[in-house]
Amino acid sequence: MSEPIILSTWSFGKKANAAGWPYLTGANQSSLDAVEQACRAIEADTEVRSVGCGGCPDRSGDVSLDASIMVSPSRCGSVCYVRRFPHPVSIARLVMDRLNLVMLAGEGADRFAARQGLTAANLLTKRAQTMWQNWVCRHPAAQIHDDAIVSLPTNLEESDSLPVIEAEPHNKYHDTVGVLAMDSREQIAGACSTSGLPFKVPGRVGDSPIVGHGLYVDPRRGAAVATGMGELIMGVCGSFLAVELMGRGAEPKDAAREVLQRIVEAFQLPEMHQVAIMAINPSGLWSSAALRPGYFTAVRTTTRDELVAPECVLFP
Ligand code: ASP
Repeated sequence: MSEPIILSTWSFGKKANAAGWPYLTGANQSSLDAVEQACRAIEADTEVRSVGCGGCPDRSGDVSLDASIMVSPSRCGSVCYVRRFPHPVSIARLVMDRLNLVMLAGEGADRFAARQGLTAANLLTKRAQTMWQNWVCRHPAAQIHDDAIVSLPTNLEESDSLPVIEAEPHNKYHDTVGVLAMDSREQIAGACSTSGLPFKVPGRVGDSPIVGHGLYVDPRRGAAVATGMGELIMGVCGSFLAVELMGRGAEPKDAAREVLQRIVEAFQLPEMHQVAIMAINPSGLWSSAALRPGYFTAVRTTTRDELVAPECVLFP
């Protein structure tokens, strides 16, 4: 038996950890239930503008959600482009538990959720609609219909108006909730959920629902989850890479840093782009790293419940 632990991305991660923690102790403990419930808590929070109901729409004004969940290479599930259901992480879990496949997209994912009896909801809140209307007003029609990414991805959680890039360049719009948990039987699980980049090109899907990119779990090697500019993470198979490095002997902090170094090596990085990654090994040793300041990991154990700055910030 070892000490249970739950780790979640960003400052809303403390709320995620509070929802997941009860599932990590006691007779019915399950790290899988813990990560699902942790994501659901953020998906249900309409104040969070980057996950679930209340998530930021794409540039045509529609919200679409992505999520994945994983316990091992042979047990994972994901959904992308969910348009009618507020808890994509639970659809991903049902895909994993009830279908002999890994990923459902778009209308097929929504129909599957309906067949499973999940409750549909309007994902576009009044506030998210207003954010979108403001964004449209600020951008010329040519840009709105352009397929390039014109809105800079930063962190939404502390901002009330958009865009606020000048105020806090690196952290305004990135906010996937990513969760890793280990119960006292040392079972690891991971999950993540997002509405993707704000004002994304309709149809764009990022790293979060793609196994190996936004999330990877291998009980013999460890687990990792990423947040930030999905296109950068996808270019290096970020979460798989971190777990693979741990499997070859790297400590979590070195594995997380190496993923970011690969990104830097592979891309011409605009100054705004943020990526953060958290990694845990099968002994429960964990770390996180970020390209730039502003990212925090929420950690909860029997003795801790706090936000922790990453061990490595590549460009402090
Ligand atoms: N990684 C997510 C995506 O690219 C967004 C984020 O974490 O901010 O869809």
